[in-house]
Amino acid sequence: MQLRQVFGQDHIKDYFREMVEQDRIPHAMLFLGTPGYGPLPMAAAFAQYLMCEDRQHGDSCGRCNHCHKSAKRIHPDIHYTFPTIGSKVTSADFGGDWRSFIEDNIYGEVFDWFTRIGGENKQGNITKDECQRILKVLSMKTFEGEYKVQIIWMPEFLGKEGNRLLKMIEEPPPNTIFLLVAQHQEEILNTITSRCQLVAFKPLEDNVIEDFLVTNYPSTKAEVLKQIVFLAKGDINIATDLAEEKEGFAANIWLEWLRLAFKGHGIELVNWSDRFNRLDREAQKNFFRYGLHFFREMMMYMLDSKHEILLMENENLAMRKLSNLSNVHAVQKAIALTNDSIYHLERNANSRILMMDCSIRLNKILHNKEVFDNKRMEKQKA
Ligand SMILES: [Zn+2]
Repeated sequence: MQLRQVFGQDHIKDYFREMVEQDRIPHAMLFLGTPGYGPLPMAAAFAQYLMCEDRQHGDSCGRCNHCHKSAKRIHPDIHYTFPTIGSKVTSADFGGDWRSFIEDNIYGEVFDWFTRIGGENKQGNITKDECQRILKVLSMKTFEGEYKVQIIWMPEFLGKEGNRLLKMIEEPPPNTIFLLVAQHQEEILNTITSRCQLVAFKPLEDNVIEDFLVTNYPSTKAEVLKQIVFLAKGDINIATDLAEEKEGFAANIWLEWLRLAFKGHGIELVNWSDRFNRLDREAQKNFFRYGLHFFREMMMYMLDSKHEILLMENENLAMRKLSNLSNVHAVQKAIALTNDSIYHLERNANSRILMMDCSIRLNKILHNKEVFDNKRMEKQKA
């Protein structure tokens, strides 16, 4: 992968070019950011840039032997480590799956990866055996290139095994470079992060997301495109989901659910939660992401009736109706509830229970019943 194939993040590319030109490459860097901002493709492109024997115009050439092997992820001096399922395994056991995973979408998320290797509901990790493999591989001479690059995707999954790598990360053999690609800094051992130079990835600019959509989904209507850019908030994965689907689907089932939750009929909600449970995780996340957008638009509209509403016609109409029955305070609560649901869904909560709980809470919020409930609870306590 060449640097120019990575969407946006130009300031980071410039920073790399400068560092290579001045021959001042840190021996360990932590690329931090949501997968949809592009830290993994950037690591792959940077590794290729380092290996290329004919760098030009601030990029790898894309033609030399090193570039070919880097692009196919078979360069003998670029090593990938990633979380796997099971205890006595290493990343090498999953090499084929890994290559096809990043070929399909190098912006992919860890949940998608686990789904790919059949561990959707199992705990993934970077094993002790894999750490030992890293130490062994890096202690050998480089095969072909000037540098040796070890990319560790999602070092969050190292857990305490990370201690095995401390010494190597602090003092790697000459010309060995660690690129750690992470999403949540607080889940990595401090002793590791403190040994790395931090490279923070920010959300992609709206025009970059727009470029991405125009390139990959040229038939998207301008109106829809504008809405997706807005919803994606700089994240290529969200933009992809919205463009592929799924947008219409999420909006439809969202309205259906809102009506049911407003009515609050128990059996209907149980049936609905069962159906929701059968959607795949990605569709479930899209559902709530869409919901978040819906409530935010509703809030803006209630605060300022001249606000330009970014909703399609049907949803716009439903939103206006609902806003007549509600108040800003309730919508604030609904937004918090939706945010919470996304949080729990991303952490593998049981979606049937989550949905049922969420429906009951929303029903109370929409009917302003919470105040009443609190008073009743206080009475009961007294
Ligand atoms: Zn090259």
